[in-house]
Formats: sequence, structure tokens, C-alpha cells
Amino acid sequence: MIPDSAPIRQTPAWQRELARAITEPGELLAAIDLGPEWLPAARAAARLFPLRVPRGFVARMRRGDPHDPLLRQVLPLAEECLMAPGYTPDPVGDADAMRVPGVLQKYQGRVLLTATGACAVHCRYCFRRHFPYAEANPGADHWRAALDYIAADASITEVILSGGDPLTLSDRRLKEFTAALAGLKHVKRLRLHTRLPIVLPERVDDGLLAWLGGVGFGVAVVVHVNHANEIDGDVRAALARLRETGAALLNQSVLLRGVNDDSATLAGLSEALFDAGVLPYYLHLLDKVQGAAHFDVPEVSARALIAGLAARLPGYLVPRLVREVAGAPGKTLIA
Ligand SMILES: *Cc1c(COP(=O)(O)O)cnc(C)c1O
Ligand code: SF4
Repeated sequence: MIPDSAPIRQTPAWQRELARAITEPGELLAAIDLGPEWLPAARAAARLFPLRVPRGFVARMRRGDPHDPLLRQVLPLAEECLMAPGYTPDPVGDADAMRVPGVLQKYQGRVLLTATGACAVHCRYCFRRHFPYAEANPGADHWRAALDYIAADASITEVILSGGDPLTLSDRRLKEFTAALAGLKHVKRLRLHTRLPIVLPERVDDGLLAWLGGVGFGVAVVVHVNHANEIDGDVRAALARLRETGAALLNQSVLLRGVNDDSATLAGLSEALFDAGVLPYYLHLLDKVQGAAHFDVPEVSARALIAGLAARLPGYLVPRLVREVAGAPGKTLIA
């Protein structure tokens, strides 16, 4: 028996929610009232890249609609098993850009750490779906190699925690890293690339806010939303709390066929983001990763979509359309 006075270390609510994510294709189909005809393909594709989606995100999907824009981002489909010419396991040259395990430097002044391989959601179009995270975990040695790399290059002014999703790490691990980073005078900004405030808004809890509020760097949080339906009241509340820490909130999306490839949908997304205190940053053309060819939107169509968007929105609500070109000095601006 545990005496009443004993300190009990509670698992945070977000970690319990993360552990309850749906990973069985049959369970996802049942939850949204889709029939078993989707099951064999979903099982086959999930063997290449497992299904994973938090229950709160599933709750925002329309029931019985196989074309729901949130469902399409997470449901494994038969098309993923097809080989398409030009689609490769590492389309953006991450393997070549890795300096020490988990540290990618492609651009001047900023480094990106693949802080963990774990994500709360598995996006079917993810360019890191084949990434060898087991060899690329900078936290494995308590960040030593990553910190040494950053310490040795005074031109690095911004450190980006990415992944995977860095907010799947515990507050303790995040604190450990930024405490060590705080000793490096040349680092001015911390950036988080995360989908957790969107797919698992429970993550934005008192512990996370205390860490971010006291981190001692300028902070930018870049979330990842592809469709306005992803933003519900819980997400808006989580984003509002993040903003109260003083962090700048930006969004990056991926242009995805069947999810957000029309101007009205993109305009609705920009407006929903603004209402939630987030400005659109990038709209990425799909990285040509093996298994994602069915999401591709041709560049000419993408340019037309952006022109349509620019015609109906103020400039600050039009994201920059970019493509990642392996070896380029930054994201390549398309429009
Ligand atoms: C995309 C990316 C960045 C960030 O680029 P910004 O244009 O500053 O948003 C930094 N490092 C790597 C390796 C990237 O892929
Ligand atoms: S959250 Fe980001 S890294 Fe994780 S699967 Fe989705 S796109 Fe990939």
C-alpha cells in the first residue's frame, strides 16, 4: 500500500492520450463508420509505415466519408504500395546533410535536430517515413554530440527542434537540452517544428508552458496544419496558451491532392489560422518520397492555387509556396 503522503509521480494526461492513439486500421475504420472494404489495403500499407492517429484528431473527422481531408492524411491506402518513378526513400538529401547523429545542417545559421523519431500522428505523405531514426537520435547521449557541434560553430544562431516531433519528448528531456544550450552565447533563437498542439492539444499543459516561458531564447513554434477542420476549440485554446508565453506562432502545410488542393480550402485554412493567432509561413510542394505519389499536385496547378489565394486574401495570409531541393541553400521559392 502507498501511504497517502507519498509523492506519486503522475503520468501527464498528454502521455496517456498519446499512448491511447489508434494504431489498428480496423479500429480507425470502425470509429468513423467506414466499411471493411478499406481494411486489406490499410493493413498492407500500414506494414510499410504504421498507422498512428490520436483519438481527438479522429473525432474531428466526418463520419462515413472516405474523402474527409483529415482522414486522408492518416489512412493507409493501397497506392502507398506502388512504386512511382522519381519517388525515393530520401527525397530531400537528409542522409547527406547529417553532420553528427541527429544534426542536419543544410542552411546558413540554423541547424535542425531530429530530436526524436516519435510522432503522435503518422502522416502518410511524410518525407521522413523511411528515415533511419534509430541511427539519428541526438538525445541518446544526452545531446552531447549535438551540443558540441553547435558549440563549435559560432555562426549558428538558431536551433530547430524537429523530428519526428520534439514535443513527444518529456518536459524533463526538453529542459535538459535547452539548459545546456543556454550556455552557448551565439544561439539566439529556438524553433520547434511540431504537430502536437494540433493533433494532441493536451500536450500544451502547465509543464510545457513553464518550460517555454522560461527558456531564455526567442521562440518560434511552427505548427503543421493542412486543413481548417483540424482546428477546433481545444486546438485554439492550446495555441492561445502557447502565444501567452511570447512565442511567435507560424504554420507550415503540405499541398496535398484530395486534402487542400483548391483555393477556397487554402483560404479557409489561412483564415482559421489567423483566428487562432497563427500566421501562415510555408506551403510545401510534396517531397517525392516513395509511397506518396498519389498526393502530388503539379507545380503549375500549385502556382495557380497561390494566385487564386493572393487574389482573395491579404498578403500576410498567403503562405510562401516552396519546394525543398536537395543541396539548395534554403527552401526554393516557387511563388
Ligand atoms: C527546412 C529546414 C530548415 C528551416 O528553413 P527555414 O527556411 O529557416 O524555415 C532548416 N534546416 C533544415 C535542414 C531544413 O530542412
Ligand atoms: S508529424 Fe511531421 S514528422 Fe511526424 S509523420 Fe507527420 S509530417 Fe512526418
